[in-house]
Amino acid sequence: MSAFVVSVGMEVHAELLTSSKMFCRCPVAFGGEPNTRVCPVCLGLPGTLPVPNRKAIEFVLKTALALNCKIAMRSVFHRKNYFYPDLPKGYQVSQYGETNPIGYHGWLEIPTRDGGTKRVRIRRVHLEEDTGKLMHLPSGGSGVDYNRAGVPLMEVVTDFPPDIESPEEAKEYLVQLRNILLYLGVCDGKMEEGSLRCEPNISIRLAGATEYGIKTELKNLSSFRSVQLGIQFEERRQAAILEQGGAIHQETRGWNEGTESSFLMRTKEQENDYRYFPDPDLVPMVFDEANIEALRAALPELPLAKWLRYQRDLGLSPYDAGLLVAERAWAEYFEACVALGGDAKLVCNWMNSDFARLLNETGQTVDPNDPERAQTAATPEKLVELVELVADGTITGKVAKEVFAEVFATGASPKGIVASKGLHAVRDDDAVQRWVREAIEENPEIAEKFRKGQTAVLGFFVGQVMKKSQGRADAALARQALESALGGS
Ligand code: ZN
Ligand code: MN
Repeated sequence: MSAFVVSVGMEVHAELLTSSKMFCRCPVAFGGEPNTRVCPVCLGLPGTLPVPNRKAIEFVLKTALALNCKIAMRSVFHRKNYFYPDLPKGYQVSQYGETNPIGYHGWLEIPTRDGGTKRVRIRRVHLEEDTGKLMHLPSGGSGVDYNRAGVPLMEVVTDFPPDIESPEEAKEYLVQLRNILLYLGVCDGKMEEGSLRCEPNISIRLAGATEYGIKTELKNLSSFRSVQLGIQFEERRQAAILEQGGAIHQETRGWNEGTESSFLMRTKEQENDYRYFPDPDLVPMVFDEANIEALRAALPELPLAKWLRYQRDLGLSPYDAGLLVAERAWAEYFEACVALGGDAKLVCNWMNSDFARLLNETGQTVDPNDPERAQTAATPEKLVELVELVADGTITGKVAKEVFAEVFATGASPKGIVASKGLHAVRDDDAVQRWVREAIEENPEIAEKFRKGQTAVLGFFVGQVMKKSQGRADAALARQALESALGGS
């Protein structure tokens, strides 16, 4: 088998989280009766005039700044002309040119396995409008739903030659980009609803070859998993063709989630001629240096910066830090705990284990801005209090799990639960000695094994003592007492 290398360019469309459409006042929402969120402007009726959505422009500026782009201080809207029934005007308002899009020549960094980063260059970040949706009717024939037509859409395109060199990197790029959009609050990132759509173009070439291969574009990828699987599939499909002496054709292919394979949608005989020209109905956007700098200064700390900082300043592993930054509200919860004096590693361990599991099981959230889910009663104050009770030896780790479950269920304070239920760790020598004696007496053959040198059975006895004490015996003390009792007799 020949050694091929793969190159991936990424084109991502993100619907912006504005309340109204790009050039009219129709509301933006998902689903609903077809053609109920339309007006003469977004239906492209003659005589209407577009009015740009200020919020959408600000969202694209923020994203461009977060992606380290240069900003076009004067940025023009163009008409991209083509005929298709989902496009009521016969053109899509978009942005054309190398340095005209709101953002251009930026980059995004993706984490690498060793805890470092790799830079993926961004060619442009531009603003356009979404199209309607073609629907195949059960009665036969097709209909068009224009509810989505005119929804503000941002397009982010990576640079050429491609920096992405594997399906894993492509997926990581998308994970990072999506997370940045969520941190900025400009897109809801729902790939399954199509508010974030990714169209990678994929080519392979022999390792060492300087010329890039013919690329194919992949559509219908509705999850991170399908992005990765789809690129893997294309890589193999192209390699098989080249190995048999065939040629790759430039084409657009669809991804079939069920069969996990791609199928031909259309071949690109030649590049479409979209006859781009500046939209005469829309004045150029002219930005002000001071406004841009104010937006830049107001950007939140982004996930990758947090990921690096948690490792560098708080001593967390790349994996643990990655779990914490995966959601902005989760990272903010963690930081609130650290600000209250909570030990970063201990807090992180609780969050990524019991806490995450309980949130998952109950469908609760730590995100104060999520109206759809119930807020957790386990506030940062309570988690820090619990962590400190374990750290200073007031309760054992085993008891702490029970206490936390109760904090989570009732919102009671950890100290209160420990006091009212008498859950303090037992360090009373007599009590521990008694449990130790009982454990040994009840298991004479295992005690014998220890004396013959099988010291690993000590763990069994520690378990027995914990059981007798209902998890309250100080584990270090129990271990000591067991060692001397077993060894000494
Ligand atoms: Zn409208
Ligand atoms: Mn586009």
